[in-house]
Amino acid sequence: MDMWGIQVAEIGTFQFLRMPVRPPQTDEVLIRVAVTGLCRTDLKLIRVGHRDLLLPRVPGEEVVGEIVEKGADVRGLECGDLVYVYPGLWCGTCPACRYGAENLCRDMRIMGFHRDGGFAEYVTVPAPSLIPVPDGLDPERAVFAEPLSCCLNALELAGLKPGMSVAVWGAGPAGTLLARAARAKGAEPLNIDPDPERSRLAGGCERRSAASTSAWSPWASGRPMPKPSPASCRGVGWWSSRGCRRQTTAWS
Ligand SMILES: [Zn+2]
Repeated sequence: MDMWGIQVAEIGTFQFLRMPVRPPQTDEVLIRVAVTGLCRTDLKLIRVGHRDLLLPRVPGEEVVGEIVEKGADVRGLECGDLVYVYPGLWCGTCPACRYGAENLCRDMRIMGFHRDGGFAEYVTVPAPSLIPVPDGLDPERAVFAEPLSCCLNALELAGLKPGMSVAVWGAGPAGTLLARAARAKGAEPLNIDPDPERSRLAGGCERRSAASTSAWSPWASGRPMPKPSPASCRGVGWWSSRGCRRQTTAWS
């Protein structure tokens, strides 16, 4: 069986072409892709490459789809199930994996980098990497699971509590998601972004954002963006979430 997909064969360009569907092995399933998220990493991967990228490759590491075929050893999943695909496959034997920190596995193999991803009609994935999508959650929302989990991780690291104010540097997709997650946890987010249009859009969910940006933004004066420092701001914590690459500051 063939399908349409996007393939990167050399850095700097990609092709939209017909390609064969890879049948699932005994511990794999075949997914009919419903939605694949496009993130900055995908664009970077195509434009300048990535240390984990093996060519030729179908990119796409944020996938929601329906199981249409499964291997003989797959249990607990059925054809027709809507699932989110966790993009990483850890080794299970290295010190990090044995400690239970599989996300830090040094031999992590990632969908869209080491193996083909979701910018195609179908993708074949390991069954253990599947997370069932709850009833009533449509694919267009479920596809935010990975970036949203990065944001929630950042907020947990911050010790965020209801009533706190949170500054979010950036009002792009991840910055907006981070602000909405903060608000859902009862905090008061404030997006800071040099782009007035993005600030305006973020203002849709952050009332104070558009009005405050010009006063807050270091870009407005042409100065480089300072890093908030716990030493210079009493009660301020600063951290960076490697997952969502956002710097956020919380203070009470
Ligand atoms: Zn490992």
